[in-house]
Amino acid sequence: MSQGFFYNLLSLIFVLRVLIMYNEHETFFSCPYCFERISFLLEELYGAQKYIEDCEVCCQPIEIDYKITDGQMQWLRVERAQD
Ligand SMILES: [Zn+2]
Repeated sequence: MSQGFFYNLLSLIFVLRVLIMYNEHETFFSCPYCFERISFLLEELYGAQKYIEDCEVCCQPIEIDYKITDGQMQWLRVERAQD
């Protein structure tokens, strides 16, 4: 095995690790019902996302609305989901 091949392999592993890290953006916010600190993983890197997730503490439905551009969170809005 040549040294060049070995370094290419290392850089490939590094790129894969960075991609995995970007896919698991952990973000924290306070629940609009019980005010507990909740973490969630951002699955989408680009564009706006809006979905409803139950609070892991009080199980109330929370509307999560965020936008990510170039790996940076542009805004995050968390409020009580409307019935
Ligand atoms: Zn809660």
